[in-house]
Amino acid sequence: MKTKLVIRNIGTLLSGKMEDPILDADCIVAEDGKITAFGNEKDMDTAGATTLVDAHGVTVAPGLIDSHVHPVIGDYTPRQQQLNWIESTLHGGVTTMISAGEVHMPGRPKDIVGLKALAIASQRWYENFRPSGVKVHAGAPVLEKGMVEQDFKDMAEAGVKLLGEVGLGSVKDGRTAQQMVGWARKYGIQSTIHTGGPSIPGSGLIDADMVLETGADVIGHINGGHSALPDDQIVCLCENCLKGIEVVHNGNERAAVLTINTARELKQLDRVILGTDGPAGSGVQPLGILRMVALLSSFANVPAEIAMCFANGNTSRQRNLDTGLIEAGYCADFVLMDQAQHAPGKDMLDSIQLGNLPGVGMTIIDGEVRSLRSRNTPPAQRLPEVVT
Ligand SMILES: [Zn+2]
Repeated sequence: MKTKLVIRNIGTLLSGKMEDPILDADCIVAEDGKITAFGNEKDMDTAGATTLVDAHGVTVAPGLIDSHVHPVIGDYTPRQQQLNWIESTLHGGVTTMISAGEVHMPGRPKDIVGLKALAIASQRWYENFRPSGVKVHAGAPVLEKGMVEQDFKDMAEAGVKLLGEVGLGSVKDGRTAQQMVGWARKYGIQSTIHTGGPSIPGSGLIDADMVLETGADVIGHINGGHSALPDDQIVCLCENCLKGIEVVHNGNERAAVLTINTARELKQLDRVILGTDGPAGSGVQPLGILRMVALLSSFANVPAEIAMCFANGNTSRQRNLDTGLIEAGYCADFVLMDQAQHAPGKDMLDSIQLGNLPGVGMTIIDGEVRSLRSRNTPPAQRLPEVVT
């Protein structure tokens, strides 16, 4: 059956696009899970909605994207013995997650046939089962010594599209990593690299020289996970590498602010993308992406509507996703939110720039309402409503 979602009475529509972050629109229409139109309701064909949402004046944005997670299986992680951490994160506005490696799998295979099997299986089980509707792009193998070009070809043909963080496996030198990242890229597999000091016992230091030599597509957690590189190396990476700059919650906040200030000076804020790095040693961060938006908006002095782009549109563009932008043909993945009750600020965006979190009132994935009032954010002043 054809579905048609109409969201009307939108107060502010955020686009995900840094060059035009706030759209002049009060209505969105999506058919069969894809955005078909947005603009002023009086000019639009809203008849025949199978789902009608009255936003009651709240802000609508593309669903948030967590660029850096470590899922294992389903909605369970053994890392902190957490159940339903993905559902909790949905309540923080995140509708898409990108795996940086399924490294917390107990007994993770490190032999090559085993790691390939795990990558393919992980890609499949998250493709086949979306926890609470959240899109988890997983199946991100960790590089181990002895892998050859054919291994990357095999995995790509089997559906693997991502590498886990370079440096978490036995490949710790830039030359080998560069060669393997090159093979991955040749077959359409995107790469990311651990940056900074060791995350947990058993992992190692990756400094700026290794990041530059490897040339992965994303500088994973440039602010460390948790230990950051010295300031001069962070600045060097921003200046000498044209890849995505990922800033994470499970990192050094001061280094996050330094990164944003450096990227701004370079006029390259469009490279900035956000992750949590959860589940991690510091736990699961259901509100991690919103907390990063508020942190960077307030401490790095970024307008909130731009900081929101770090959490959806920039990631969409850096990672070639079909979600994260308000654009015809993109997935109808949205978060509806409003200023938190009693949070200072003249409106939601102003209150975020003052360091406050917004209240999430609804999430929508592929045109389907997946959650109502968040159980994790502070309560919003106004809540959207499903009319039909
Ligand atoms: Zn890492």
